[in-house]
Amino acid sequence: MIRTDEHYKDSIRDGREVHVNDERVKDVAAHPQFNPLLDEAPCPSIANFDAPKFVASAQHVGMPEKDPEVSIEKVDALVVGGGQAGLAMSEHLSKNDVPHLVLERDRIAERWRTGRWDSLVANGPAWHDRFPGMEFSDIDPDAFAPKEKVADYFVAYAEKIAAPIRCGVEVKDVQRNIGRPGFRVETSEGVIEADNVVAATGPFQCPVIPPVVPEDAGVIQMHSSDYRNPGQLPEGAVLVVGAGSSGAQIADELSRSGKRVYLSVGPHDRPPRSYRGRDFVWWLGVLGKWDAEALEPGTEHVTISVSGAYGGNTVDFRRLAAQGMTLVGLTKSFKDGVLSFAPDLADNLALGDANYLSVLDEADAYVARNCLDLPEEPEARNIDPDPDCVTDPILELNLVEAGITSIVWATGFAVDYSWLKVDAFDEDGKPKHQRGVSAEPGIYFLGLPWQSRRASSFIWGVWHDAKHLADHISTQRKYLEYRSPAERKADGS
Ligand SMILES: Cc1cc2nc3c(=O)[nH]c(=O)nc-3n(C[C@H](O)[C@H](O)[C@H](O)COP(=O)(O)OP(=O)(O)OC[C@H]3O[C@@H](n4cnc5c(N)ncnc54)[C@H](O)[C@@H]3O)c2cc1C
Repeated sequence: MIRTDEHYKDSIRDGREVHVNDERVKDVAAHPQFNPLLDEAPCPSIANFDAPKFVASAQHVGMPEKDPEVSIEKVDALVVGGGQAGLAMSEHLSKNDVPHLVLERDRIAERWRTGRWDSLVANGPAWHDRFPGMEFSDIDPDAFAPKEKVADYFVAYAEKIAAPIRCGVEVKDVQRNIGRPGFRVETSEGVIEADNVVAATGPFQCPVIPPVVPEDAGVIQMHSSDYRNPGQLPEGAVLVVGAGSSGAQIADELSRSGKRVYLSVGPHDRPPRSYRGRDFVWWLGVLGKWDAEALEPGTEHVTISVSGAYGGNTVDFRRLAAQGMTLVGLTKSFKDGVLSFAPDLADNLALGDANYLSVLDEADAYVARNCLDLPEEPEARNIDPDPDCVTDPILELNLVEAGITSIVWATGFAVDYSWLKVDAFDEDGKPKHQRGVSAEPGIYFLGLPWQSRRASSFIWGVWHDAKHLADHISTQRKYLEYRSPAERKADGS
């Protein structure tokens, strides 16, 4: 299509931000810096103006060529987030020869380094919780890597794959270009144009605290993402709400530190840490459970409660109670200083037991079917008797009378894609996607819980999802590179 000057001017009046000598240009089309281009090229096609060059790594492509001071960086694929997901994506894009850039607002794997509590170790052993291409160098493969080592591992991995990553740069806004392909990406360090954008900003971004206890209730309240160690909490008892891996581990640590701990336990899975000489990650792997496909719409996600702390033990709430912790059911409401709990504690424990025993059953069946020589472990089926707090559950608790001075909410996270202003979300703001390929061509999600399977948000799972996305981006590029014989003839190529 031939475009006139007016078409051209209209097309660049699309709200884009362009800076000339550090000053924002209000009307790009009217700015004198752009007039020479218009003068000399009366009918510039949009493709001439913006056609992204396939560059070996992100680089500045002059725009317009006459004025080297006005330039917009262009890249084929922009990956937002330099955690494990961003690095996996970079590795697979490189393998597919897709020029790309990773932007990370903090440091590589920052959430592992500073976004979690001090004593956190990986939930899976080092032989398992890693990418296929590199082992942990200084950890026994059956040990659980401390969080700092996990972060170090990803820094080393970024070096190994020579990831084109830029740290300290935040992506603030992504919008589809109007009238031409690609996206305009506003970052804390200027504008970048990208043909594809991969949102790898993590499955656990915004702490969620249910609005149960008002701020002025006279207790310190914090989310598990702000918890660091027992010394942070005031004297007195603590209520930990949520018995997934975070809640169970934090409650255990607080209890071991000598604190009086109440733990609010909801529905959960709690696989055995190990059985018949194999860690649960091995069992979930061979039994195909990590590969379980995304939950059907309407199916409840049940949190999984596992721990690598203290060398790795099965999460056993009855045992925690026997050590002095008080278990309560789901935290429901708060009135006049009194917290109410659902009468579901025994049911929640029973569901957790059923999950635990089902893994043992499936493991035994797998051993029998494959005639494996793994030692029997009948004692693993012993379930301790219910403690008093289960047989005679607490349904109401006066915080002052119980001496509770703090509450740790281990109640999960939400995602925040407010920076991604594209048509890739449903009416609830959730990403619309198929295995991470979004409804908006060129936009991809990575690291979402259950993106393609149970393992998607975990270290070993995200790597496989990244491969799928990189393959998809590469295939799309091949379509877009196609030129018909007539076009080739016209190009002289
Ligand atoms: C307490 C806890 C323990 C876990 N333990 C394990 C475990 O043992 N094993 C396991 O496999 N998984 C574990 N996980 C799950 C998962 O592996 C981690 O959540 C992991 O950090 C997810 O990696 P990610 O790269 O998808 O996201 P993140 O690690 O959250 O990385 C996303 C990155 O994006 C950056 N970012 C966000 N927004 C922007 C922006 N606008 N511009 C630029 N950068 C941006 C952030 O700074 C961050 O560095 C755990 C999760 C939690 C919460």
